[in-house]
Amino acid sequence: MAEASVFSRIIAGDIPAPRLYEDDQCIVIKDRAPQAPTHLLIIPRKPLVSVADAREEDVPLLGHLLWVASKMAERLKLEDGFRLVINNGRGAGQTVFHLHIHLLAQRELPEEGLTEDLQD
Ligand code: 5GP
Repeated sequence: MAEASVFSRIIAGDIPAPRLYEDDQCIVIKDRAPQAPTHLLIIPRKPLVSVADAREEDVPLLGHLLWVASKMAERLKLEDGFRLVINNGRGAGQTVFHLHIHLLAQRELPEEGLTEDLQD
């Protein structure tokens, strides 16, 4: 059996990583090596290897991940804009083979108000 990815171990609670948000489908954590003042990772609980590994049945999950990214940006007041990045495959820079979306922005991450519900 394939070894559990670092993100599966974080989701299982084996590796500590404070969750800025979580629900039944995904978690949001800070990247441990931030490439921008705000650098979050939106990670599905389902251990899909990459976007290319997703199936049609995963379409609602993929949509949910984008929705969570958008809501996190709204909550963090990233009015100046933000980037969403998915590295797909080693050749594109993917290093953790458990699908994740990078959310990057130039605004500093506030320390408060990050754990509220995302519902409208
Ligand atoms: P990739 O290169 O696969 O698109 O992105 C993987 C990201 O996961 C990298 O930006 C890396 O810094 C981050 N990362 C790897 N291991 C850990 C970890 O144990 N904790 C956290 N918070 N981030 C991690």
